[in-house]
Amino acid sequence: MSNRDYRFATRAIHAGQTPDPTSGAIMPPIYQTSTYVQEALGRPRGGHEYARVTNPTRTALEENIASLEGARYGAAFASGLAAIEALVKRLSTGDHVIYEENVYGGTHRMFQQVFAKLGIEFTAVDTRDPENVRRALRPSTRLVHIETPTNPMMRVVDIRAIADIAREAGAHLCVDNTFASPYNQQPLALGATIVMHSTTKYLNGHSDVIGGIVVTNDEQVAEDLHFMQKATGGVPGPMDCWLVLRGTKTLAVRMEAHNRNGLLVARYLAEHPAVRAVYYPGLPESPDHELARKQMRGFTGMVSIDVGTLERARRLLEGTRLFALAESLGGVESLINHPATMTHASVPAELRERMGIGDGLVRLSVGIEDPDDLIEDLDRALAAL
Ligand SMILES: *Cc1c(COP(=O)(O)O)cnc(C)c1O
Repeated sequence: MSNRDYRFATRAIHAGQTPDPTSGAIMPPIYQTSTYVQEALGRPRGGHEYARVTNPTRTALEENIASLEGARYGAAFASGLAAIEALVKRLSTGDHVIYEENVYGGTHRMFQQVFAKLGIEFTAVDTRDPENVRRALRPSTRLVHIETPTNPMMRVVDIRAIADIAREAGAHLCVDNTFASPYNQQPLALGATIVMHSTTKYLNGHSDVIGGIVVTNDEQVAEDLHFMQKATGGVPGPMDCWLVLRGTKTLAVRMEAHNRNGLLVARYLAEHPAVRAVYYPGLPESPDHELARKQMRGFTGMVSIDVGTLERARRLLEGTRLFALAESLGGVESLINHPATMTHASVPAELRERMGIGDGLVRLSVGIEDPDDLIEDLDRALAAL
């Protein structure tokens, strides 16, 4: 199914999937196998040789998510970090990467603690000003890696402006589109070369899988990523691919609900006297609102707030009943989290402070429960502050 044939919600359900030719099963089977029979030497019966290299359930997922991002190629990995790792392993010692300083904590940790010691060079900048990317460029810059909205400050970065700067410099722009999801934001259409996701989050959407994917229209990048699947092996199993495929089928309806609930919760919090600041690009008073509206269709269920101190944050985090205290995001159920001690504990304190991740910061992943129940839950917990 080509991208032009159908609209997003239809592709979410059908792209990459045709009824199984052997049984007629309407849903793609979980091809739980490690290898495939060869009819004759060097002639595999179904075109597959070994499941690290290809698996039909995985291929269905790769084609499905590629279609949702407007990409021709997709390569799935065992986690979001394994997807980013595969991208960095395309580089060589001495190559340079520029990345947004407010990226996912695990991305920062991998760059600085794993790849920097192998001689790949990294510069973290505040990409809200695209000129910071231009200033950090070196002749050896091969990759620019950004996130938007960022985690957990919900900063919005101008994808098109940074894509232009990267292209002029001969570097690839990779956008980690995990927070927005392809329903809300399509970085390839804005000029990015590569989009990656932790499928663990909105794409799977049910908090029961760890997974990652990279999609692109660049044939060489795609070829390199499939080589990485084969040569370094960080691939997902067929059961997990199938679960993510089940998740993407409802992405359009889930994201509509996350967008609606996110905005309702952000509006409620913005008016609560116990809340000092709300970070949500969907609020008209947000400094990022105009740019967010230009490049996003909705603003997700991710909302961060500042309640001032660790003690007040603790009372909120431990006071909610529906919002469960846990890392991660993007599931149908609502979660509440303390970035400074949980998701971003691996980020150096000084950088954390510069980005505004203080002890009073609390991040909400607003699920798709009834919004009145969610607001009542927060109301009860905030009353104790
Ligand atoms: C969770 C996350 C990752 C890492 O993905 P895993 O699947 O946990 O390895 C990367 N980027 C963002 C924005 C994330 O939220």
